[in-house]
Amino acid sequence: MDCNPRSLLFVLLLLLSCVIPAFPVFYPPNEVNLLDSKASQGELGWISYPSHGWRENWEEISGVDEHYTPIRTFQVCNVMDYSQNNWLRTNWIPRQSAQKIYVELKFTLRDCNSIPLVLGTCKETFNLLYLEADDDQGSHFQEHQFSKIDTIAADESFTQTDLGDRILKLNTEVREVGPMTKKGFYLAFQDVGACVALVSVRVYFKKCPHTVRNLASFPDTVPMDSQSLVEVKGSCVNHSKEEEPPRMYCSTEGEWLVPIGKCLCNPGYEERSSTCQTCRAGFYKSTLGNMECSKCPPHSFSHHEGSLHCGCEKNYFRAEGDPASMACTRPPSAPRNVISSINETSVILEWSWPEDTGGRRDITFTVLCKRCRAVAANGSSSGTQRCEPCRSNVRFLPRAMGLHNTTVTVGDLLAHTNYTFEIEAQNGVSSLAPKMRQYAAVTITTNQAAPSPVAVIKKEKTTRSSVSLSWQEPERPNGIILDYEIKYYEKEEQETSYTILRARGCNVTLNGLKPNTAYLLQIRARTAAGYGASSPTFQFETSPDSAFSISSESSQVVLIAISSAVAIILLTVLLYVLISRFCCRSKSKHPDEKRLHFGNGHLRLPGIRTYVDPHTYEDPSQAVHEFAKELDASCIAIDKVVGAGEFGEVCSGRLKLPSKKEICVAIKTLKGGYTDKQRRDFLSEASIMGQFDHPNIIRLEGVVTRSKPVMIVTEYMENGSLDSFLRKHDAQFTGIQLVGMLRGIASGMKYLSDMGYVHRDLAARNILVNSNLVCKVSDFGLSRVLEDDPEAAYTTRGGKIPIRWTAPEAIAYRKFTSASDAWSYGIVLWEVMSYGERPYWEMSNQDVIKAVDEGYRLPPPMDCPATLYQLMLDCWQKERNNRPKFEQIVSILDKLIRNPSSLKITANTTSRPANLLLDRSSSEVPSVGTMGDWMDGMRTLPCKEAFSGVSYSSCDTLAKTSTEDLKKVGVTIVGPQKKIVSSLKALDSHNKNGPVPV
Ligand code: AMP
Repeated sequence: MDCNPRSLLFVLLLLLSCVIPAFPVFYPPNEVNLLDSKASQGELGWISYPSHGWRENWEEISGVDEHYTPIRTFQVCNVMDYSQNNWLRTNWIPRQSAQKIYVELKFTLRDCNSIPLVLGTCKETFNLLYLEADDDQGSHFQEHQFSKIDTIAADESFTQTDLGDRILKLNTEVREVGPMTKKGFYLAFQDVGACVALVSVRVYFKKCPHTVRNLASFPDTVPMDSQSLVEVKGSCVNHSKEEEPPRMYCSTEGEWLVPIGKCLCNPGYEERSSTCQTCRAGFYKSTLGNMECSKCPPHSFSHHEGSLHCGCEKNYFRAEGDPASMACTRPPSAPRNVISSINETSVILEWSWPEDTGGRRDITFTVLCKRCRAVAANGSSSGTQRCEPCRSNVRFLPRAMGLHNTTVTVGDLLAHTNYTFEIEAQNGVSSLAPKMRQYAAVTITTNQAAPSPVAVIKKEKTTRSSVSLSWQEPERPNGIILDYEIKYYEKEEQETSYTILRARGCNVTLNGLKPNTAYLLQIRARTAAGYGASSPTFQFETSPDSAFSISSESSQVVLIAISSAVAIILLTVLLYVLISRFCCRSKSKHPDEKRLHFGNGHLRLPGIRTYVDPHTYEDPSQAVHEFAKELDASCIAIDKVVGAGEFGEVCSGRLKLPSKKEICVAIKTLKGGYTDKQRRDFLSEASIMGQFDHPNIIRLEGVVTRSKPVMIVTEYMENGSLDSFLRKHDAQFTGIQLVGMLRGIASGMKYLSDMGYVHRDLAARNILVNSNLVCKVSDFGLSRVLEDDPEAAYTTRGGKIPIRWTAPEAIAYRKFTSASDAWSYGIVLWEVMSYGERPYWEMSNQDVIKAVDEGYRLPPPMDCPATLYQLMLDCWQKERNNRPKFEQIVSILDKLIRNPSSLKITANTTSRPANLLLDRSSSEVPSVGTMGDWMDGMRTLPCKEAFSGVSYSSCDTLAKTSTEDLKKVGVTIVGPQKKIVSSLKALDSHNKNGPVPV
């Protein structure tokens, strides 16, 4: 084997390829090479110094690296000689931006011990030096210009393998140089007698490489040589915005430190791999931020990339404040289950939440109030509804709009009026979809109500003993004001004694007051529904006595004179009364005729106007002109035909009298080709009607007799005749409303009977109803009962009579009186309570006469309050003097109105009235057998069996049946007992025709 150390080095170098790791070398990204000897394929061209001499110097040798890539190495191995000083210098290396340079050396170095025969000159180190230079100095070389970086020594020259072989180890040493200031530099390797092979030399500097942090891009940055960090500002990546200025520090080691601030992706973009990318279709991002794009919420979509929000599907909406993440919504469905509870002129409306809230929670409710009226179309009875918004003074509690609860109270409505309430549920998108809005509607009719209080009272005139007052009608009369009650008392007496007066109009004069005295006064109005609340207390003072003084003597004289005068006056009055009484008694033929003769032989009660029979006039047209105003035909405008009368059509129209407001009127015409008698008969109705002035009697406006057609003009009654009106509104009124109507009719009849007028044809078809549900008695023609009424039938005595409505004595022997009118009133009462049912249904007139004569009476209509049925039975007393007077009827109904709870006790619980009269048309007086039928009719079946086991011989006995008796036969339930007892009593009273207490 060759013992030359150099050849030994070669051998070892050949082994090098085995020890260099066999994987590709990647430099860290923060290292920028300025020189890499391995990268050079050709000669490196470094110079060795001294270049010429007898000594061997650094020698450039080609080899292959671990990948068999050719590399260039330098080696020197003059271990045998003394004083070695061999230099190897690299080419000029431009510094670029580096301040601090790193030199990485890979080399092998022979262990001097491993070289036999060396003379002690062998070294195991070499020196690394550098020289800065602004440009390439070529081959110019001067040792002393170089500065030493370090002495490089091998860690371990050889490494022992497991097999005991010694293998050459590749050393890697890195040295830092800097700060550099010149544009470039040279490196030099000084060998002083070692056996060294430089396998590779790499010169590099470090940088912080371009990077993206927090969506900010930071450029390549070369650190400073000193210890300080370099602050670098980042710039936001595309489609992003700076939230806080992005910054980072570049360390001297080429590492990025302490990222501060960040950028955020724009709306419509999301962060993906450190970039901002558009949202995909079906997704959206509405805000700046690094969150991901969100999927479109329900009922919305986005067809394009980069959507900021999703559009709503058809019929779905987004309210102004709705976030983009919220589902699109729609208006709610209508509220459900609307319930109304009417209390006089107020109503509580309640409802349930809508089934579909449209996907929102911001539901509120709005209630719209409308006042609706039926409008007859072209004269036909089936009209349409015309609605208008309610008056602004209708009160809503808590309010009409924006209700959060499902209830509202509506007050200050008009009495007897139809209202429609539209309740709408609304949410945040209702306003965006007006066509989709839905509401629930409820129609109600307000009840009769007492009038509101009189608010303003004015003193017109005061004297020592009197005061004249006037006041305004209550703001809400809620019907026709019948009269006012004026209550007053001396202030000092504190209501211990007081006086009550009644006035029809809105003024009164109080007489007989004490001079110079303070009085307190209250007024309240009365309608068919009763009294309203009293006005606030009003105080007034009478004037003081005139200021004059007289001596006690002269005052005595005055007193005596006054006393004598008073005595004389009293005596005269007494005499006058006695004489007049005597005269009257001698003339009186009938107890009814407590009247004074007046004018053309008619009677009058003192102070009360009396009806005058127009037939007593020789010239009936004189009667017309006495009682009816002649109207100019040009003041009348006819609109349409509303009915047919006996003498011609009945039309609706308008009457405009000079300096008066236009009013709606009904116009009865006399058709052409009439006879004189027909004209007289036609106008006789006006002659009669013109004498009446009462809120429950149809009012005559006037007649047209001087031009054709001849007309009778009356107030217009919007709801037409009562029978058809009730049939049209079957079961739609409250008990109080029905009683209110009945009270009106009774009041009108009281007035007629007070006037001495017997109607003879009182029936629901002859009652007219206005828009306020006020009922008025009409049909006053003298011949009408005979001619006009289709219900009138010829009796055996030849006269034409409306059998079903007429009292037995009037049918039998034409005894028409106010008492027979009371019988008819009982039938009207039955018609009203059965909503226009035909009395005695389809029974023939003959059967009706027979049945009534035998004591049978109509049964109570469905749900008829017991008190009202009792009133009917009273009106149908066989003995006419036992029937109630109209005054009593009015007062009974007034009591009922004041105490509506009394209407709750019904006369029976059957559905529609059983046709009792037809069933029981046998002419026998009811016996035990027929009583079972009666009870069947009354639906008291649980009691029937027990009841039929007792032997009653007649209705007399039955009438005596007490609650105790019923208990004995096992009827213990309170309801049926009462019903049976009252039914039996009622039946018995028919048979006996005895009075029934009300
Ligand atoms: P009469 O001839 O009075 O029976 O009237 C015939 C029909 O005309 C009645 O049934 C009503 O429908 C109508 N009518 C009569 N008078 C009036 C009125 N004052 N207002 C409205 N309709 C009326």
